Amino acid sequence: MFRNQAIVLMYHRVAEPVNDPWQIMVSPEHFSQQLDVLKRKASVIPLDRLVSDYRRNALKRKSVVLTFDDGYLDNFTTVRPLLEKFDLPATFFITTGKIGTREEFWWDELARLMLQSDELPAQFSLPVGTETIGVETGAEARLTPELKRQNETWTTQEDPPNRRCALFLAIWEKMRATATEAQRSTLGSLRELARFNGPAVSEGPCMSEEQLASLGRHELVRIGAHTVTHPALGEWPEAFQREEILNCRTRLEEITGQTVNHLAYPFGVYNETSTKVAGALGFEAAVTTREKVVDGKSSPLELGRFEVVNWGGEEFEEYLHYWINK
Ligand SMILES: [Zn+2]
Repeated sequence: MFRNQAIVLMYHRVAEPVNDPWQIMVSPEHFSQQLDVLKRKASVIPLDRLVSDYRRNALKRKSVVLTFDDGYLDNFTTVRPLLEKFDLPATFFITTGKIGTREEFWWDELARLMLQSDELPAQFSLPVGTETIGVETGAEARLTPELKRQNETWTTQEDPPNRRCALFLAIWEKMRATATEAQRSTLGSLRELARFNGPAVSEGPCMSEEQLASLGRHELVRIGAHTVTHPALGEWPEAFQREEILNCRTRLEEITGQTVNHLAYPFGVYNETSTKVAGALGFEAAVTTREKVVDGKSSPLELGRFEVVNWGGEEFEEYLHYWINK
């Protein structure tokens, strides 16, 4: 029995994973191996094609769509040449607020400062939104080589192995619910308290306008919206959700000259208002982070995705097989 269904894969970054608690990095070597598996075992199609197949009730098993979230620089420098090499299409969902800036995403800077700072005060208060939270690093104020190693390889799939990791998670949870300005001020305070001796962020963590425009012109690439400031949309009022989605799309269309009618909900957090707004703005497809196949019963504005992590070819092939046959 072959059901009419397809799957969408979710990636973020292709870079050597280090300090990657959320497992959003896949190494270039593993990514190449994964593309090789996809080329042999699946039929990689653009998101537009999945939408049109869905509408004609003609989804094909083994159809796979590749998506990348956020707009990190490596999407341009590393992912694009590998897609070219394997001749596979992909959609890139871009957070426009970071395009052309040198500012890190708040979750990346928080991870860097909490997990890798050589020194943090043993006890300090940190403003997060309307709250001030007491942070105690205690015996972990100074980063020992052992602590550094632990923090470099820890992922949120595992229990926090130490206090710094636990504190990072607790602060992350609170920051996700706050507005951009509040996130900036939290990081500003933390930056002043921390002694971070690691390498500075030399180039923009995200693409420049020129790089995004060039990526958008590529025949294998489509650009989708991922809001301006990456809020957890479903936790905000309708007017704010609309502004975030619309302003993102307007800027993307200006930069790329393409029509943008695909959307990814940041953090996968959305509600009925989000799908209503996306539909009213004319978006044809929107993707979530729920692990679900796309079939005749799916809603085009709530398409599930499967997250790919830093697996080698063989391990990836097992997951792919499992997802395709779900
Ligand atoms: Zn995102």
